[in-house]
Amino acid sequence: MPCIGTDARPADQECRCPTCLTYSVAYLHHLFRCEELLAYRLATLHNLWFMTTLMADIRDSILEDGFESFRLEFHDRYQPPDREAAEEQRAKRRPSTRPRDSALL
Ligand SMILES: [Zn+2]
Repeated sequence: MPCIGTDARPADQECRCPTCLTYSVAYLHHLFRCEELLAYRLATLHNLWFMTTLMADIRDSILEDGFESFRLEFHDRYQPPDREAAEEQRAKRRPSTRPRDSALL
């Protein structure tokens, strides 16, 4: 696997969004490292494309009475590559257990 800084492949090789069809992982990596606003725009394009396609696929699976098999295949396919990192991200999103200041009033 090539270094992320020189990886000429798209971020998602199966994705057909404008970001993945046009830009390499190395270029996106460069944009994020330099905090270029284009990085966030291109990531948003990819994410919206992914979600729109996912919803269309879910609708199709429901209409074809195959949602359960679609769901299982989806979960098999989209496993986080680093479970420890995924758990850290999940923990950051959890609401704080610290009482809010307003609760003390
Ligand atoms: Zn994409």
